[in-house]
Amino acid sequence: MALYRSHAFVLHTYKLGETDQIVVLFMRDFGKIRAVVRRSQSPRRPTAGYYQPLMLLDAIVYGRPSQTLYRMHSVDIVQAFRPLHEEFSLLRCGLYMTELIDVATHEREPAPELFTLFHAMLHALLETPCSTLLLRHFELRVLGALGYAPQLVACVQCARDLHEHEGTFSARLGGLLCATCAPSVRQTFVVGHEALAYARLVLAADETNVPLAPSPGATAMQDLDRLLHAHMTFCLGRELKSYAFLQL
Ligand SMILES: [Zn+2]
Repeated sequence: MALYRSHAFVLHTYKLGETDQIVVLFMRDFGKIRAVVRRSQSPRRPTAGYYQPLMLLDAIVYGRPSQTLYRMHSVDIVQAFRPLHEEFSLLRCGLYMTELIDVATHEREPAPELFTLFHAMLHALLETPCSTLLLRHFELRVLGALGYAPQLVACVQCARDLHEHEGTFSARLGGLLCATCAPSVRQTFVVGHEALAYARLVLAADETNVPLAPSPGATAMQDLDRLLHAHMTFCLGRELKSYAFLQL
């Protein structure tokens, strides 16, 4: 048996039989792990309410290193992010970010840089005047960290450097096409220059922190949404469940 202690966020929970629940944690030092918590005792336990997303926890789990399931030893709240739980407009953004982290991480593969990014972005969500832009920023940074960033610098088909006016995007190919290749590829759409300039800037930056460029205009925001939604849906094979809540 070994103890694993780390800062962590809950990604989601689900029932296990009549008495237990599984808490899926994203632990800074150990990556995504599943821990069993006794549900039957939960109502009497002050920690029962800790097992929900969008709170920074200090979690201790234990188990054998070779097992896929651990047991929860103890948990404390380090940071409650209260406004995220009290305001629906922030909550839905936070849950969307949580789901993206959930699908983007693999079990027991530490991803401390993704943890730091997620934590920083939740802070930024409390302060940003434009949560939509923050989500686009987060998507780009997560895709970049995973090596799934859309190809926006060279033609995804012939690898030629793109001119400024070339903005035909193929989700299936995962990037932009030059003017020569674009007509031969089906199911493409055009992304405006302002949105592409913003996306390139975010992908090229090193810091995890938020907007580096002036806020894009309304059309560019729509372009960014369309580009990233199409790209991520293709990469993941489906739409994130919480995406629908963002449209409410
Ligand atoms: Zn080309």
